[in-house]
Amino acid sequence: MRSCGPCTACCTAQGVKEGLETPKPPGVPCVHLSACGGCAIYKSRPKECESYSCLWLLGMGPIEERPDLLGVLYEHQPHPEVPQGLIIVRILREGQERSTRVRWNMRELVKRGFWVGVAQKPPPEGAGWVQETSFYTKLTDFD
Ligand code: SF4
Ligand code: SF4
Repeated sequence: MRSCGPCTACCTAQGVKEGLETPKPPGVPCVHLSACGGCAIYKSRPKECESYSCLWLLGMGPIEERPDLLGVLYEHQPHPEVPQGLIIVRILREGQERSTRVRWNMRELVKRGFWVGVAQKPPPEGAGWVQETSFYTKLTDFD
């Protein structure tokens, strides 16, 4: 089983609607990130945080593709019409969606039946993520 180590990418990337004093918008660091790394309220963290599904933590890809190192976070979300669910590819480092490695990973995920969507980090003055409207659902979508 992997551990997050120094990565805290999802604690900035994800939005947390319930369970915190005030909802946390996506794309801003959580106030509960501890100075020495990790979650300062880990044992009582919100359900949304508990159920967050990071594919790297679940074993996808090599160790060196940890989200903070690769600059990409692969997030799984269930979907009622897609048996395997959705993968949101959150681009933490500009341009990574065009890298050979990330394109290869996206194709492999589509081959396994996931629908894959890309979400770009907003500019610093913005809020939230900007998600491409269409999903990659078949290999010809990459042509
Ligand atoms: S993005 Fe993944 S590896 Fe990084 S802190 Fe979140 S769960 Fe851990
Ligand atoms: S509450 Fe903890 S696990 Fe949830 S986003 Fe904040 S730091 Fe991360």
